[in-house]
Amino acid sequence: RFLTFEGVDGAGKSTHIEWVCEQLRQAGIDVCQTREPGGTPIGEKLRELLLHEPMHLQTETLLMFAARNEHLRSLIEPALARGQWVVCDRFTDATFAYQGGGRELGLERVAQLANWVHPGFKPDRTWLFDVPLEVARERLSRTRTLDRFEQEQDQFFIRTRTVYLDHARNEPGRFKVIDATQSIETVRLELQADLKQLIAL
Ligand code: C5P
Repeated sequence: RFLTFEGVDGAGKSTHIEWVCEQLRQAGIDVCQTREPGGTPIGEKLRELLLHEPMHLQTETLLMFAARNEHLRSLIEPALARGQWVVCDRFTDATFAYQGGGRELGLERVAQLANWVHPGFKPDRTWLFDVPLEVARERLSRTRTLDRFEQEQDQFFIRTRTVYLDHARNEPGRFKVIDATQSIETVRLELQADLKQLIAL
């Protein structure tokens, strides 16, 4: 199975990924934990560029998909073929939200690239960690140095979040929206209930 974590920066998804992988391992599942952009040597180099070098929007989007193509071919697909469960921190939904919505490239362009790089391929489950602007800002203000996406204006954040929530509404079977303003314990309970279902399937 292919499971992804999504959400705007500051939603706190990273806190929960390790925990979910640990739960799966305890259930005897062979887990491959990875992230985007990144996950492969080339992908991690592209990540450095993407997070810190200003560039043309189309370049940014193409590099996201270049990193993703490398990731799919050399890591995700082989892992799934071996029967592992792949848990990925962000995937194509992030490109729809950030480049398509946040940066206003438009969703159609992103859809075209997605259809080229991975036609018909989608996560089995996507957890969307959702928080309002003020909470995201407050959490980011407490963290490390911000990358160039995290330094964007409020309108960027709002557009990104809107695309995520729209997609979640359109695909309720794949997405689980998590109200990430709740306590870590409450979020864990929600995730745990969903994991039980996934494991039983
Ligand atoms: O989730 P993480 O903080 O590791 O993501 C790295 C950065 O890359 C984030 O600031 C995220 O907003 C950005 N990103 C993006 N487009 C993607 C994937 C990630 O702008 N498709």
